[in-house]
Amino acid sequence: MKNIALFSLVVVSLLIFSCKPQMDPKTEINNIAEEYVKLCLHTGLHDPYFVDAYYGPEEWKLTEEQKKPLQDLINHTQELITKATAIDKTNFDEAWQLRHNYLHKQLIAVKTRLELLNGKKMTFDEQTKGLFDAVAPTYTEEYFEGLIAELDAAVPGKGDLNKRLEKFTNQFIIPEDKLDAVFTAAINECRKRTLKYVDLPEHENFTVEYVKNEPWGAYNWYKGNFFSIIQVNTDLPKKIDSAIDLACHEGYPGHHVYNGLLEKTMYKERGWVEFSVYALFSPQSLIAEGSANYGIPVTFPGDDRIKFEKEVLFPIAGLDASKVDKYYEIERLKSKLSFAGNEAGRKYINGEFTAEQYVEWRQKYSLVTKERAEQNLSFVERFGTYIINYNYGQQLVKEYVERKAGDDPEKIWEVYVELLSKPYTASLLQ
Ligand SMILES: [Zn+2]
Repeated sequence: MKNIALFSLVVVSLLIFSCKPQMDPKTEINNIAEEYVKLCLHTGLHDPYFVDAYYGPEEWKLTEEQKKPLQDLINHTQELITKATAIDKTNFDEAWQLRHNYLHKQLIAVKTRLELLNGKKMTFDEQTKGLFDAVAPTYTEEYFEGLIAELDAAVPGKGDLNKRLEKFTNQFIIPEDKLDAVFTAAINECRKRTLKYVDLPEHENFTVEYVKNEPWGAYNWYKGNFFSIIQVNTDLPKKIDSAIDLACHEGYPGHHVYNGLLEKTMYKERGWVEFSVYALFSPQSLIAEGSANYGIPVTFPGDDRIKFEKEVLFPIAGLDASKVDKYYEIERLKSKLSFAGNEAGRKYINGEFTAEQYVEWRQKYSLVTKERAEQNLSFVERFGTYIINYNYGQQLVKEYVERKAGDDPEKIWEVYVELLSKPYTASLLQ
């Protein structure tokens, strides 16, 4: 009997030690998530723009002395991608499937950004696929020429279109001493409308600062716990419609709300640590910029926006509202030229355009002033292919929401808020 007991003990021990213990897939994802956050912080030591926000564990913050070579970070990211790909997702519910996809795509973005920093050459489309999980459509010059012909007929006067357009739209510039009052009124309205559909904590808040010498028009610096600092760049004049654009895009229901909701639902309620960091060059940015832009027609459906601007913002700015309908007709046509910016950026990044050609092309096909085109160029120089997140991101978010919600404004809000509260990436919206 003693021998049999001993024999059994040996067999059981052999069985235990010969099989590698299988890690629970959810524990494995938690481990990868922690490594992902640390990788983002390490990437931030090489790229000052990479970590847009971080409110995770204090002890994970790094100092310059902890900087690691780029190639080591690339290798480590690849190991994590391989681990993430091998995870058995059979028993995952929708939330965990989304989490797995998100982490996987975010890791690919970290690797792509590290490779670019390490000098790897990639085309515009290769970069956007890796960084943002999307490839923006290409448009020809003929496409833009057709739109420009429509604008040519719509803008009052004769002669050079750029000059006529500038003269016409200059009538709608907000005087600098009225900027704050106009933005405050726009923000209050966007907040009021958003609160009807989104449950925000009472303490949520942001401050607005006016700055100069930046390549962007405005920026939201999310600080965590539903607090943001929104900076508005006053290098170039702000037209009346920029108030609603900025208030929705940077504030409600845009970046301030999106960051806050992800922090609340993903990081605080579920404890998913990857949502304590916002990696700027990553799929999260396409959803962030796309939903922030699409948030404008969600917040002001139909003629609501024109009505509000005419009745409230024009008087505060001291502007004449009599030509407002013509202004919006022209702005609507101009917005269709938005993809011209992608084409100029694609050609510049692919080495087909010099800086000078980029500026000329944008003046010709985006119908912007030389100063604006130069500001756009400095944006591309700092943020590269990020430009697709605004227009292509908006298109993807719009198509996704309207496919699920139709044209019912209430249902659109419902699907839109669901999108803001879950970790989607671009390829899941298509
Ligand atoms: Zn933005």
